Amino acid sequence: MFTPIKDRTVLVTGGSKGIGKGIASVFAKAGAKVMIAARGEESAKAAAEELGAKYVTGDVGDWGDVQRMVAETVAAYGGLDILCANAGAFPQTKMVDMDPDEWDGVMRTNLKSAFLCVKAAIPEFEKQGKGRVVLTSSITGPVTGFPGWSHYGASKAGQLGFLKTAAMELSRYNTTINAVMPGNIYTEGLQDLGEDYLATMAASIPLKRLGAVEDIGNAALFFASDEAGYITGQTIIVDGGQILPESLEAIGEI
Ligand code: NAP
Repeated sequence: MFTPIKDRTVLVTGGSKGIGKGIASVFAKAGAKVMIAARGEESAKAAAEELGAKYVTGDVGDWGDVQRMVAETVAAYGGLDILCANAGAFPQTKMVDMDPDEWDGVMRTNLKSAFLCVKAAIPEFEKQGKGRVVLTSSITGPVTGFPGWSHYGASKAGQLGFLKTAAMELSRYNTTINAVMPGNIYTEGLQDLGEDYLATMAASIPLKRLGAVEDIGNAALFFASDEAGYITGQTIIVDGGQILPESLEAIGEI
C-alpha cells in the first residue's frame, strides 16, 4: 500500500492535452492539487475544469514564463512538491529538409525546458526540504530511431544526460528526479491518423495495444510516491514491450 499523495502540489507542464493531461488526471484522482501549464489558454482552461485543477499559461522554453509557472503554483497552493516536466514538441522532418532553426526549436521546447523547469523549482524544494521531479522522455532517441526525428531523438536522449547530473545536484535538496520513457501512446493527436494506421502500430507492440495516457501517469505517480524516495537518476520504459522484438519475424511469432 502506497502512502497517499493527497494534497501534495504538482505542476504538470503540457498538462492540457495528451500524456500531460493523463498525468494530471492520475494525480488529480489521487487527491493531489494539480496545476496545468501550457501555451494555449483554451485547452488549458478546459482540462483544468475537467480535472478540478488550476492552470497557468506560458512557454516552457522561456525562463520568465517558467518562473511564473512555478510562482503561480506556489501562490495558488502554498508550495510545490512535484514537478512533471512533460511538455514537448515532435515535428517530423528529415534532415535533408530541416531548417536549422527547427532543430533549435525542438531543443528549446524539449531539452532546455527540462533545465529551466528544474532550475525554477529548486528554491521551492529547498524551502520544503524535499521534492520530486519526473521528466517525460521517450524511447525515441535513447533507445530507438525514427526517420524525421533526429532533433526530437537527440532532445529526448539529452534529457537523460541532464537527468544524471541533475539527480546529483538535487540530492542536496532531498529531491529525486527520474524519467518516464513512453512508447507509442494514444493521444488526441494520433486520432487523425486513422484506424488502419493505428492498428498497424498496435500490431508491432507485444501487448498489442497503444499505451494509454494514464499508463504514463501511473509511472509518474510511482516516481512521485514516498515509496520511490530512494530512486533517483533512473528511467522506466512504459511501452507495452515495443522495443523488445528484434525483427518483424519475432513479432509474428507471438
Ligand atoms: P501533445 O498531445 O501534443 O501535448 C503536448 C502538450 O505540451 C500540450 O499541452 C501543449 O500545449 C504543451 N506544449 C507544447 N509545447 C509547449 C511549450 N513550448 N510550452 C508550454 N507547453 C507546451 O503531446 P504528447 O503526445 O502528449 O507528448 C507529451 C510528452 O510526451 C512530450 O514530451 C513527448 O515528447 C512525450 N512522448 C509522447 C509520446 C506519444 O506517443 N504521444 C511518446 C513518447 C514521448 P500548448 O500547445 O497549448 O502549449
